[in-house]
Amino acid sequence: MKSVNDLQVFESSAGAKVYQIPMDAFPGLKTFAYLVIHQNLTVLIDTGSGYGESNQQLIQGIQTAENLSGQRVRLEDITHILITHGHIDHIGGLVEVTSRTSALVGVHELDRRNITNYEERRGYILRRLEHYLIEAGVESERREYILGLYRFMKQLFQSVPVDFVYSDINMQLGDFKFLHVPGHCAGHVVIRLHDLLFCGDHILTDITPHQAPEELTPWTGLGHYLQSLDRLESWAPDVKLTLSGHNKVIEDLTHRTNEIKQMHKERLELVMDFFESPNTIFALSEDLFGSADGYDALLAIEEAGAHVEYLYQRGKLSLENYEEMENSFEPIPLNYKRQ
Ligand SMILES: [Zn+2]
Ligand SMILES: [Zn+2]
Repeated sequence: MKSVNDLQVFESSAGAKVYQIPMDAFPGLKTFAYLVIHQNLTVLIDTGSGYGESNQQLIQGIQTAENLSGQRVRLEDITHILITHGHIDHIGGLVEVTSRTSALVGVHELDRRNITNYEERRGYILRRLEHYLIEAGVESERREYILGLYRFMKQLFQSVPVDFVYSDINMQLGDFKFLHVPGHCAGHVVIRLHDLLFCGDHILTDITPHQAPEELTPWTGLGHYLQSLDRLESWAPDVKLTLSGHNKVIEDLTHRTNEIKQMHKERLELVMDFFESPNTIFALSEDLFGSADGYDALLAIEEAGAHVEYLYQRGKLSLENYEEMENSFEPIPLNYKRQ
């Protein structure tokens, strides 16, 4: 492994070259795209956010990869763009990249709409999110602020076409193999190439990957996520290095997976303790994560909500004021309590 201009190079057991391109997705959020050259395939895994300097950093990274590899590698030489999942910090660069190459864009079918119908999907989610925040017990001023931030995200991307979904190619492209790992995102996949694993945001080192309730987007949610962690372990037992979308390289995948599972187990216990007396998801989020502002507040509410939903689905929590809910036409704040 060598590092030049912050760009790290890896090599798989069968000789595929991997260039890890760092980008600033948003202020305070670093992200990686991976340029992979193997036989007749030149593949770009994820594209950064497209925001700020991100596109220039991506193009600069491809140039550095060309200098390091000693062979011609240009944007127009890319044969495939493989998306790990449809979050903006991974798909945002598609607008620029697809205008400059004829590479085929692939994504899992459950995240296809994030790319091909972005504007429509934003509008749809916004509606559901508003309803959700009321039920979570978020008062109107804070709610409007959070929804305003969400509206702003609309401007960050324009829909682009997708050329194939992974099921079309039987979850395999040359030596690249795909596994669907829903949870952090509905159509999240991890991609294995020989002894390397590209895991997107499914497993991260410094933080546990963000969870949101399935009520907002089907196939997300903590239940799917924990199941996906288990599936990955049996699918990729001999992986040497795991390359994530944001953090350091993971050398011991099983160890990190176990840490993440343990963290959720402990958090679920905290949630059960909190609902000894009836309360809302918003109150729980402040208890778990302190009071946060703006987008961080939304992330905290979603994270708390994902844990509440997991326990509620499994009959561990119940709704204290369901009769009030039944008698109201409008959504009302819901109080959960321990069964
Ligand atoms: Zn993500
Ligand atoms: Zn991400």
